[in-house]
Amino acid sequence: MQNLLEALVAKHRPAAREGKVAEYIPELAGQNPDLLGVAVVNPQGEMHAAGAYRHRFTLQSISKLIALMVALMDHGEEVIFSKVGMEPTGDPFHSLYKLEIASEAKPLNPMINAGAIVVSSLIRGKSVDDRVKRMIHLVREMAENPEIDLDRAVYRSERETADRNRALAYFLKGCGVIDDVEETLDVYFRQCSICVDCLDLARMGLCLAQNGVTLEGKRVIPEDVARLAKTFMVTCGMYNASGEFAIRAGIPAKSGVSGGILALVPGRMGIGVFGPALDKKGNSITGVRLLEDFSKKMGLSIF
Ligand code: GLN
Repeated sequence: MQNLLEALVAKHRPAAREGKVAEYIPELAGQNPDLLGVAVVNPQGEMHAAGAYRHRFTLQSISKLIALMVALMDHGEEVIFSKVGMEPTGDPFHSLYKLEIASEAKPLNPMINAGAIVVSSLIRGKSVDDRVKRMIHLVREMAENPEIDLDRAVYRSERETADRNRALAYFLKGCGVIDDVEETLDVYFRQCSICVDCLDLARMGLCLAQNGVTLEGKRVIPEDVARLAKTFMVTCGMYNASGEFAIRAGIPAKSGVSGGILALVPGRMGIGVFGPALDKKGNSITGVRLLEDFSKKMGLSIF
């Protein structure tokens, strides 16, 4: 396994040249595009990792999974899915398009920005800080790493430049779907800036692979909530490339624009990948190729 991971990192790292780091969040624009790291952990606690697996990065869209799980624990399925749908969009993650043409302003799913902003508005807590702390707490529990916290520079950088997300949020407010734009976005930007490495992601993936039970055996997510999160990873986790990824890799995965991908094989392993050069759809170009190759070589597809 160790040799395989090292060979995969060496093989796929050069593809970074075909991608580009996210630039619309200035603080992410400075990331080194050539980094590539991977970590894998199984239920026995055996861990293998290669490349830049200790490099830290922000969750970005991977946090949409965390927010969804906390909101489901707060309100249950019925309330959440009355506000946000369950269908893939086929559009880019920050698209406004379907919101306006639909008969009601109900974002199609919680893995696109519009849907995630609605989900963030539903997280319970006395203050923004309190609501974000609850998400950080879940990430720490899943990864069994109490040190996990926010990257404040990335948070501030996104908050200052997020015109598109503001447009989405004002549209949602205009339709009566959310109340307070700045407060909701503040929750959303902070959750996006939770900072992890590949090992954290791998352990989080293992927790989902075990239906909400951590490596050390603690239940931190109810089974039905974990199942729902994994289903969204398959149908919507890689934005509008989810279909292709399901065919080529066949494992639940969720990506973020910082270059991270949280992936898993049910009952068998959690996988964390980081490669900040992105393809045109906003997924890590090297990370996707590494995962597809890894899945084929190991026969991991769930289908
Ligand atoms: N914070 C990012 C945004 O809202 C997350 C998007 C992503 O990772 N795809 O634009």
